[in-house]
Amino acid sequence: MSHHDERTFVMVKPDGVQRGLIGEVVSRLEGRGLKLVGAKFMRIDQDLAEEHYGEHADKPFFEDLVGFITAAPVFAMVWEGADATRQVRRMMGATDPAEAQPGTIRGDLGLDLGQNVIHGSDHEDEGANEREIALFFDDEELVNWDQSTEGWVYESA
Ligand code: UDP
Repeated sequence: MSHHDERTFVMVKPDGVQRGLIGEVVSRLEGRGLKLVGAKFMRIDQDLAEEHYGEHADKPFFEDLVGFITAAPVFAMVWEGADATRQVRRMMGATDPAEAQPGTIRGDLGLDLGQNVIHGSDHEDEGANEREIALFFDDEELVNWDQSTEGWVYESA
């Protein structure tokens, strides 16, 4: 089942946690047929925030972004499935919720670029998913398990 086992890092950001949207986000990803293999309710500290968003260190919004992501808890997750990284990004919608299509998580649940509910690894950045998973989770925190519905999600094993 090698083509079903791509893993991606997903996080409900502080605004989503504060607004009670953890369940809604998890529900959409579960409903799609993706498999949860790790989850952690946690507070991101300054160092982790700066490393996670390192690619934006020289951007004008960096300080606000780090301040926001450390301001309240997040719900960090690892999801597995066929083409998982790209499929989660499609479900998230555009970075700016004001431009995200209705039907996407950001397009349905957000209005503000700085507070856009969800993070998901960038599928266009090779290896970003594995890097982010390793940054947030130890190997033993990820659970290998067989989901009994798998044969009803994927036509061929
Ligand atoms: N962001 C922001 N202002 C900007 C661009 C981005 O506050 O002008 C924030 C926004 O929360 C976004 C995050 O920085 O989710 C990371 O930006 P990226 O371009 O990586 O977007 P994403 O991968 O989250 O869609």
